[in-house]
Amino acid sequence: MNILLVYPLYPDSFWSFKHALKFISKKAAVPPLGLITVSAMLPSAWNKKLVDLNISELEAKDILWADYVFISAMHIQKQSVSHIILECVKLGTKIVAGGPLFTQEHHNYPQIDHFVLNEAEITLPLFLADLADGHPAKVYKTDQFADLSHTPRPDYHLLEMKKYFFMNIQVSRGCPFSCDFCEITSLLGHKVRMKKPHQIIHDLEELYRLGWRGPVSIVDDNFIGNKKEIKYQLLPQMRQWMQQHNYPFVFNIQSSINVADDHELMSLMVETGITSTFIGIETPDETSLHTCNKLQNKGRNLLQSITTIQKTGLTVSGGFIVGFDSDTPSVFQRQIDFIQKSGIVSAMVGLLNAPRHTQLYKRLEAEKRLTKETSGNNTDLSMNFIPKMDYHQLLDGYKKIIAAIYATKPYYRRVRQLFLNYNHTYKQHQRINLSLIVAFLKSMYIIGIIDKGRIEFWKLLAWTLFNKPALLTEAITFAVYGYHFRTVYGLNPG
Ligand code: SF4
Repeated sequence: MNILLVYPLYPDSFWSFKHALKFISKKAAVPPLGLITVSAMLPSAWNKKLVDLNISELEAKDILWADYVFISAMHIQKQSVSHIILECVKLGTKIVAGGPLFTQEHHNYPQIDHFVLNEAEITLPLFLADLADGHPAKVYKTDQFADLSHTPRPDYHLLEMKKYFFMNIQVSRGCPFSCDFCEITSLLGHKVRMKKPHQIIHDLEELYRLGWRGPVSIVDDNFIGNKKEIKYQLLPQMRQWMQQHNYPFVFNIQSSINVADDHELMSLMVETGITSTFIGIETPDETSLHTCNKLQNKGRNLLQSITTIQKTGLTVSGGFIVGFDSDTPSVFQRQIDFIQKSGIVSAMVGLLNAPRHTQLYKRLEAEKRLTKETSGNNTDLSMNFIPKMDYHQLLDGYKKIIAAIYATKPYYRRVRQLFLNYNHTYKQHQRINLSLIVAFLKSMYIIGIIDKGRIEFWKLLAWTLFNKPALLTEAITFAVYGYHFRTVYGLNPG
């Protein structure tokens, strides 16, 4: 059997990092971890080939080679999915689809032959058994959640590693919290299911064996969902492995804000090589936090928690939302002030949306306020429901936030704020290579000479050299991110 695994194209968005990747001559930020995990669950005798449209083209000869084309997608990849389906239908190759997009709306894709939905550990073996019998069904789904201790190591060898900025691994699925707009818990449940530490060490071994050195993203939606296991089982073993291998990787995670309450855990993370975390802050407004059931953020000094995390040695990036029912026009300036004070350099601000199957979706459906499905793109200004605040007022306020935090001056001021808060302790053993030198020269030319905000850039470098010389690489990296954000938001005419 010949299987072609196809990963659809991402549009240009906050998370694509497209405009930053060109500095380091990479094609995509992260590889398709779901697809290469599914690949590892297929019979080993089958031939498998991966085409990630974010790094290469889909060619007719590949589709014709395949007995089946496997697609995995998220909502943001919808447009590319339609194109792939058209090509496969035209060339007569059958399609098997899975992943979040199809799990939530497979009924919108009648041209697809088979759906392997929810978690592939459960549904894929059923499909494979029926296929072997010659009678595969149209839809395989389950309301059970998989035991991850049997999940195989992803087929990392299928990747063209050099074309990605990060490699990625998965440690757990599920989140104990119940934020009402979040689709993670409807897809993956509240019970946190973890891989065993030896599985994670095997993943790291494989990445190391394949020659990867550098950033590794831990994709879990909340890495500390099962804090006890992470703290007492996984991290001590990862730390030891990292030490034995001379610190080849640097990790980033996503976590809930309560990570700030456990200093020992944060220190262990830093010693393991975790240097940054993404946290859903959402809003400084207590009423909105209550309405959306973000209880872990309520009743705490959020700014203080963020500073505590930064002081321990983790940079924080954050998600922010406007469009809650209780938001008043004052929320826009409050968000700006909060973000500026926090030193959260990468602040993902989005308009509230209600993904299917979430508590928010159900409430808005009952209130007859839903207008369409979500686009999955936090930067395309779309909302899929009628907000309480006038939509145009909301949009103006949203644009005001973006302009206020991503214009060069306030952006670089925020980088300085981070550097003042941040206690930089983890030192990855980074080798200077040609691509780093090229990236440095490109950033000096594009951001330091051509870009309209070049004066602010040089001011940041001078300030960093004088006050925090150990953070010079970080200063240049954040300048490159800033260039990407300004370009995505149309603030970068230069
Ligand atoms: S903490 Fe994050 S992953 Fe968990 S329910 Fe809330 S938004 Fe979703």
